[in-house]
Amino acid sequence: MRLGTLEAGGTKMVMGLADADGRIIERASCPTRLPEETLADIIAFFKPRQIDALGIATFGPVDLRPSSDSFGSIINTPKLAWRNFPLYRRLKDALNVPCAIDTDVNGAALAEARLGAVKGLDNCVYFTVGTGIGGGVLSGGRLVHGLMHPEWGHVIVSRHPDDPLTRGICPYHEHCAEGLASGPAMQARWTMPAQELPDNHFAWELEAWYLAQLCVDAMMTVSPERIVLGGGVMGRAGLYPMVRDKANQLLGGYLQSPAPQEMEAFIVPPALWPDSGLIGGALLAKDALRA
Ligand code: ZN
Repeated sequence: MRLGTLEAGGTKMVMGLADADGRIIERASCPTRLPEETLADIIAFFKPRQIDALGIATFGPVDLRPSSDSFGSIINTPKLAWRNFPLYRRLKDALNVPCAIDTDVNGAALAEARLGAVKGLDNCVYFTVGTGIGGGVLSGGRLVHGLMHPEWGHVIVSRHPDDPLTRGICPYHEHCAEGLASGPAMQARWTMPAQELPDNHFAWELEAWYLAQLCVDAMMTVSPERIVLGGGVMGRAGLYPMVRDKANQLLGGYLQSPAPQEMEAFIVPPALWPDSGLIGGALLAKDALRA
């Protein structure tokens, strides 16, 4: 079985060839440019490799309603050239194999649940915290969609009273998670990249405050058995215990499970990073082939 996987990102496209177990055996990437030229590179990778199916884990928002004429099209992206681009249909037509598409974070959630940090569980949330913030949800073993798909990055959060940023950087919302806690939000607030901020900088306490709110919101809504926090900003290992502490504070002892002392095993790093999304695409391809 030769599974093709595409992790489609706003800055780069990662193409992979995987075996039946989701192991990546070959990969390549190209920068995300205008749709037509980028697509040509993607097709040029997959065509000669004679894949049996393709799974796409993409940036969004993306139309995922099966009944929609524009199923698999990128929707309201700030990358104007990609707006309404029929990514799924164009790849399916070009490669002529079974295809599946989902968000990059849903793909990552699936990969971590089947093969990684959430292995053996059917209910999890995967958050990515980097250039943007996004979240994928696996509930009862199924990836959650709906009218569209979850948009965790734009969940409204309470602004920290000591946050020097009075308005988040999201053009749509004053106080959403992405606008206040993404890498670019940290850069805007402190005028330096997050990775240059020392461990004891107040920036990390603020970051933990916002991410803990996301985690608690997830716990109160979809009741995950575990939350995975991935993405470039989470490269700061010291952030995990801070998020757990803040989450416990915000929970106020309300939930019996997870108990405060169980939080370390509940909010965890991804096991497959940085390939969670790419492996997720391979698993989507496998499911498409089975279907
Ligand atoms: Zn927003």
